[in-house]
Amino acid sequence: MIEVNTKNLLKEIPEQNCFGEKITLVAAVKLQSVENINRAIAAGIEVIGDNHVQEFKDKYDQIVGKVKRHFIGHLQTNKVKYLIGKCDLYHSVDRLSLAEEISKRSAKAGVEANALIQVNIGNEESKGGFDLDELDAAYATIKAMPALKIKGLMAMLPYIDDEVELRRLATLMRKKFDELKAVDKDFEYLSMGMSGDWRLCVECGSNMIRVGTTIFGQRNY
Ligand SMILES: *Cc1c(COP(=O)(O)O)cnc(C)c1O
Repeated sequence: MIEVNTKNLLKEIPEQNCFGEKITLVAAVKLQSVENINRAIAAGIEVIGDNHVQEFKDKYDQIVGKVKRHFIGHLQTNKVKYLIGKCDLYHSVDRLSLAEEISKRSAKAGVEANALIQVNIGNEESKGGFDLDELDAAYATIKAMPALKIKGLMAMLPYIDDEVELRRLATLMRKKFDELKAVDKDFEYLSMGMSGDWRLCVECGSNMIRVGTTIFGQRNY
């Protein structure tokens, strides 16, 4: 099933979004076995995204093929050290202390980290990230950190059925992304969209989607 799911998904994702940008698929691999992940990779997955540092570490050497490794989940500051030099993109920089730790550890290791700033676009208690009205200040502070390159923004839309509201929020994210992209040549990625809402997100201008369930089926918690 994983092979078929992956191939169907890759076929369905448009070549480009409405801004003419290539869309990057990140397979969300939390709680998946190494075997399942490698099956998805054999079927065409080129980027995998982990949520848990322990899983990232445990699987690191067992993943077959040349895939990029992203971190997409909430990241505890004291675990950053395990990812330095191994994580190609940190999606979920949701607080200044985390950005500082990534920058400090990367500088020490002589590497530069690529990161996205997470925005809490729905202003939800349960979600991490900066509120839109805090974003400019957070961006300026993080931009000044030496070993961390901000490559764009990341957001998770709320779990609601109101499509009009979801489109409004996704479009707002794209607007903010464009605002920063206009002044920052490093801005490249808007990471937004999961199994349930990636089509809507791509229509509204996302160029990076994080998909788990559609590839691997329902997760067993
Ligand atoms: C699990 C997860 C996804 C993928 O969710 P699905 O609904 O299974 O596609 C995307 N982003 C983050 C941050 C996740 O934790």
